[in-house]
Amino acid sequence: MLRRAVAAFCACACVFAVSACGADETGKIRIGIKFDQPGLGFKKNGTYVGFDVDVAKYVAKKLGYSEDEIVWKESPSKQREAMLQNGDVDYIVASYSITDERKKVVDFAGPYFVAGQDLLVRKDETGIDGPKDLNGKRLCSMTGTTSAVNVKEKFAKQTQLMEQPGMAECATALLSGIVDAATTDDIILAGLASASRGRLRVVGKPFTQEYYGIGVKKGNTELKNKINNAITDMIQDGSWQRAISDNTRGVAYTPNAKYNPPVPNGKGNK
Ligand code: GLU
Repeated sequence: MLRRAVAAFCACACVFAVSACGADETGKIRIGIKFDQPGLGFKKNGTYVGFDVDVAKYVAKKLGYSEDEIVWKESPSKQREAMLQNGDVDYIVASYSITDERKKVVDFAGPYFVAGQDLLVRKDETGIDGPKDLNGKRLCSMTGTTSAVNVKEKFAKQTQLMEQPGMAECATALLSGIVDAATTDDIILAGLASASRGRLRVVGKPFTQEYYGIGVKKGNTELKNKINNAITDMIQDGSWQRAISDNTRGVAYTPNAKYNPPVPNGKGNK
């Protein structure tokens, strides 16, 4: 009887040990990115490309992980905090703005980039030149984002907002005429405009500053500090600039030089 109880206890302990240790047990690092944002985090024929992916890989390398030791996980905006809290991923690099609200439940390294919220419209749109023109219009944005909150709280109370899990769905809605505009960060919109081959364009008048951080589990200060050091190295050794240039080639987008490159642990993440 006792022997059976001991055996059962051991079985439980072993299962627990494996699940508790996660990445370390398998020697892999699990990183959350977007899969549907061309130029930032994009899944292309089974590989992952974009600026966020390059930042994520650079950081992983500094942490001692080669590319084949990375497990990529899709992190839609609305699920990011929960994925970190549940331990589904070790860190998230996914156009993730540092905000006081989010800092209550997760920690951020960075910022590693500063974007600005903007509008995406159809190529021939003439009536929408900024948030002031959105009253009475139909707008699409992503659930769980600063973009959707800004629209609801500040910019266009009379706007009909359609929320989608990702911006790819918003681009489709815009192309098919279901909405009049889509909104999120300019760098995301620029990638979608480029992928639309001229059918969509970015208005080009950003109206917020979005300080992109790398999300880690709340309290994991050791990992946060290591990631901050890696971001600093990436900016200093030229890899950051190279990653920006590589991923915006042929895209009508230049990062705002007033804010980029930012200082990790500096403005936007004090
Ligand atoms: N950067 C904004 C945010 O974190 C919008 C883009 C996104 O969610 O990926 O809410």
